[in-house]
Amino acid sequence: MKVILKDNVIYAFSPGMKPVAHVHAGETVQFETLDALGGQIQNEEDVMNLDFSKVNPATGPIYVEGARKGQTLVVEILDINISSDRGVIVAEEGFGVLRDVVKGFRAKILPIRDGCVIFDGLSIPIKPMIGVIGVAPEREEFPTGTAHKHGGNMDTKEITVKSRIHLPVFQDGALLALGDVHAVMGDGEVCVSACEVPATVTAKIEVEDRTIDWPIVETEEHVCVIVSLPELKDALEEATRVAVKMLSEARKISFEEAYMLASLIVDVGVSQLVDPNLTAKAKIPKRYLA
Ligand code: CA
Ligand code: CA
Repeated sequence: MKVILKDNVIYAFSPGMKPVAHVHAGETVQFETLDALGGQIQNEEDVMNLDFSKVNPATGPIYVEGARKGQTLVVEILDINISSDRGVIVAEEGFGVLRDVVKGFRAKILPIRDGCVIFDGLSIPIKPMIGVIGVAPEREEFPTGTAHKHGGNMDTKEITVKSRIHLPVFQDGALLALGDVHAVMGDGEVCVSACEVPATVTAKIEVEDRTIDWPIVETEEHVCVIVSLPELKDALEEATRVAVKMLSEARKISFEEAYMLASLIVDVGVSQLVDPNLTAKAKIPKRYLA
């Protein structure tokens, strides 16, 4: 199995980025990932010296042989192994949902023991997930902290073990990179960060010959449309529109019929409210797409 070491990182997804490895469709790859702060915060005081140019590293990119522009890359997450016995969370003035209320810049080290994150004596069961996963975009360059059609910083908790992440391929080879693993996160990621951890992610990479507009996360139960745009309202509307279109096509019913069906079965929600583009999700139970 190919291993992509954690010193191969990018800080932006760009159309012309250079691969650090080549893999074939069907291959399984392991990515070592740094935490979203680049491992810079080992003590709570380290926050004062944080170098923001080293934030949000993503490991890669890898060139997937056979992946062509217009196709879909499918990344099946086989394992997320947290490679530390502690994580870190930060809160900063000017960031997060309550950006005008929060004061100062604080970090908190969170021990991880027996499958739980420990927060002031509270044990919170871990649910490891991948914050950043994406491919080379079509034209524009996006910092790894920004999500859009290429994926990126979607901070969606459904991006977890056993999920299949479908990403539109905009450049030959797709150029996949990932990082920003969280031991646990709630929808919204309200304070701007989660329990940030280094990890090893094992994924099987496949290519499918169909075109999608936005990333889709397939779990055991749901197909989840992920849309990231500067305004939350626009992201919610676009995620809903894509979900209705998928229902309409799958069931061969009119848009209006699918719209009504969606109102009964689709859960529209928020992945994160704190990154430069905000991420909405529309979850369709798989059985209605069959
Ligand atoms: Ca993130
Ligand atoms: Ca993060």
